[in-house]
Amino acid sequence: MSAQIIDGKAVAEQVEAEVRERLARLAYKPVLVAVRVGNDPASELYVRNKARKAHQLGLQGTELTFDASMREADLLAEINRLNSDGNIDGILVQLPLPPQIDPKKVIDAIDPRKDVDGFHPINVGLLHLGRPGLVPSTPAGVMRLIASTGTTVAGSRAVVIGRSDIVGKPVAALLLQQNATVTICHSRTRDLPSVTREADILVAAIGKPRFVTAEMVKAGAVVIDVGINRVEGKLAGDVDFQKVREVASWITPVPGGVGPMTIAMLMRNTVIAAEARRG
Ligand code: NAP
Repeated sequence: MSAQIIDGKAVAEQVEAEVRERLARLAYKPVLVAVRVGNDPASELYVRNKARKAHQLGLQGTELTFDASMREADLLAEINRLNSDGNIDGILVQLPLPPQIDPKKVIDAIDPRKDVDGFHPINVGLLHLGRPGLVPSTPAGVMRLIASTGTTVAGSRAVVIGRSDIVGKPVAALLLQQNATVTICHSRTRDLPSVTREADILVAAIGKPRFVTAEMVKAGAVVIDVGINRVEGKLAGDVDFQKVREVASWITPVPGGVGPMTIAMLMRNTVIAAEARRG
């Protein structure tokens, strides 16, 4: 059996079309501000792509760039200014930040209603309580991709490899919300393959190229690969795509799977944040 490929680009385009429709019903253009400190080239590229997509969809995207030597207090003051500006709907701070700035303090300072990354403790709490809030984009994108396959999540066995605050934990919370029986694995999990082979839905968010092999996957599983790794100048996921596609029923490629969903869901969050705050 060869798995069907989940086309992240196509699903992202559906989300973008929904965003355009919602925007067309608003009398204003929601504003997203991306804050970047320093000149990390990857961060620069991410922020530029987010701003470009915002413009394409009809949102207003602004980038604020500060010197790598910026003091923590000054960044916190800047966040406060953005919080109190009624015209700004979404604030995101591109991580990583320079060592003199504590990212937790910065995330905690963002108004939870404008926290379009969904990293503020209030939004994390709401997610785990199953109450409406702003949900992190990559995990929300993972759920959209699973939904696009027509898989019934309720009652399924789901295994998430990775327990980061930005991917593993929120993905697990969303799967639980949809009534999957969820297991979270990490570097201390004993006999990982025996756990992953139980999964009807397997989500890999590890950061190790081609870590998930065919032997770790149950026949017919839906496999979502969140990993983005560089191997000899090329992108590779956390899943050994060529081998695992022979076992799985559905699989995301890298690139072209989860990646395109992240920015689309971020745009969606900006519209949700604007609608919730401004009506
Ligand atoms: P992370 O913070 O480094 O977390 C990695 C997780 O994998 C940790 O929980 C770690 O366990 C676990 N792990 C590491 N080695 C393991 C092993 N041998 N067996 C089992 N678990 C192991 O990474 P992240 O931020 O979640 O990102 C994961 C991947 O997704 C990266 O490749 C990243 O680039 C990618 N990513 C992609 C997108 C996107 O838009 N597509 C967005 C975000 C991240 P411990 O907790 O025990 O250390």
